Amino acid sequence: MFCIKCGRPASIGNFCSEHFLESRILFTLKDFSYIYCKLCGINEAALREKIEQSIKTGNTIISRKVFLKTVGNKVHVTMTAEGKIEGVKKTETHKSLVILRQQMCDMHVKLSGGYYEAMIQVRGPEKDAILRKVRQAIPEKAVSSVEEIKEGYNVKILRKSNAAAAAKALRERFSVKESYKVGGSKKGQMVYRNYYAVR
Ligand SMILES: [Zn+2]
Ligand SMILES: [Zn+2]
Repeated sequence: MFCIKCGRPASIGNFCSEHFLESRILFTLKDFSYIYCKLCGINEAALREKIEQSIKTGNTIISRKVFLKTVGNKVHVTMTAEGKIEGVKKTETHKSLVILRQQMCDMHVKLSGGYYEAMIQVRGPEKDAILRKVRQAIPEKAVSSVEEIKEGYNVKILRKSNAAAAAKALRERFSVKESYKVGGSKKGQMVYRNYYAVR
């Protein structure tokens, strides 16, 4: 058997190993759209993972290098991968395009509407120490607003779970009194807000 392309002895099917590789594709890349929240920013690790998932191949990929170049709302992807096609090593480089699309995440939609599920009412002479502790316990993104009033601070918090975690940390040093108030209704159900008075 000889290679049908160059006439040299064939090693795989009708091809020499060079022309066998030339006739086979190691992998392809798919273009896709990536939705992100402008206020949260693009999570590059998550984007890179999506790019890794956009590889289409029936072969074994051994290693890959990915380069990204962002121009406007497009990310130009260049991937060089080494792999094996029926036991023969091959390296290929392919390009693809990721279109970036903006969409506010649920949390930021709620935050921009002034939504909150819990409030920490910071009071008393140690109010600044308490506020520092609240800020340590809750991710900045989860704080809806901090309002300074005569008696101290009212900290509005998006999620009850974040407020509960902060209350737990505050109880180590301060007095925390918990209460509930009706904060409106959602789909016909009463919604309760959690209040923590801390001093
Ligand atoms: Zn050949
Ligand atoms: Zn967001």
